Amino acid sequence: MFEEMFGETVALLKSKLHIPEAYAIFFTSSATECWEIIAQSLVERQTTHIYNGAFGEKWWQYTQKIKPLALGISFDENEEIPYDHISPNTEIICLTQNETSNGTQVSNAKIKAIKEKYPQMLLAVDATSSMAGINLDINQADLWFASVQKCFGLPAGLGVMICSPRAVEKGLAIQENLHYNSFPFIIGMTAKNQTAYTPNVLGIYLLNRVLQMVPDIKEVDIKIKDRYRRYIHFFEESTQLDLHIHEPATRSHTVLVLEGEQDQITTLKKEAKKVGIQLGNGYGKYAHITLRIANFPAIGDRDVDKLLQFFSGKR
Ligand SMILES: *Cc1c(COP(=O)(O)O)cnc(C)c1O
Repeated sequence: MFEEMFGETVALLKSKLHIPEAYAIFFTSSATECWEIIAQSLVERQTTHIYNGAFGEKWWQYTQKIKPLALGISFDENEEIPYDHISPNTEIICLTQNETSNGTQVSNAKIKAIKEKYPQMLLAVDATSSMAGINLDINQADLWFASVQKCFGLPAGLGVMICSPRAVEKGLAIQENLHYNSFPFIIGMTAKNQTAYTPNVLGIYLLNRVLQMVPDIKEVDIKIKDRYRRYIHFFEESTQLDLHIHEPATRSHTVLVLEGEQDQITTLKKEAKKVGIQLGNGYGKYAHITLRIANFPAIGDRDVDKLLQFFSGKR
């Protein structure tokens, strides 16, 4: 029965990722769909987006198409997230916990501080490339979402959205009902372990199976951060490539960005390919001078050893 499997998957998410019992969880087709659901159904007039990279900026741009008053505040990659000057008309503060494009992150402590400074606003967090990889303090924000092709290690085509009771209350009060994926419709179906449209059943099933296998997020978090420190130590010693983000407080634990000369990056990618390693391309304006390494839980220790061995031979 689908309803049973759906309910069990939600329960597994709650227990493995330490999501408070009172939060509602439903599935979408992607993180991008979550951006749109928030813009169309959870805000009447104004969101404020604090961003330092391509995904955060795109979220703001997509929201502006639906809610033209959406505000954007940009900040530097090596600076901690600024939040002193949020417009008082803001209904939802939107931030990208892990900016996949440049390898930066916002700590649980900062998220908590933002929430405490603006208790009347909702806080929405894009955790697409960190959820299921690091231990996020879900209680400190109202909307969290991710898609499963990053830290969940699953095929693309499924998004997970997590909503606090306050977020649900706001969505039900606004009663936006113009779309197949309008929030009140989805929430109504979710209460019965049903969906508003035929979902990605195979994706939900695979998520269920993976969640049964993976350890508690606290354990995964320790492993990911150990591995992160191993990478950082290695590349700090390396004379060849630099860490793109210099400030340790803003550096992502799950996406490492390395920087070098354009020729060097091109050559490294080619040589890696010869030994069966596909190095991740940089993103956007840094594409030609950076490489990205995914520090995701599904990657085995042996693959990490192989990757570091490759880089060792190159310095
Ligand atoms: C990958 C990514 C997205 C987009 O995910 P889709 O599943 O393609 O919609 C959004 N935000 C961040 C931070 C991402 O890393």
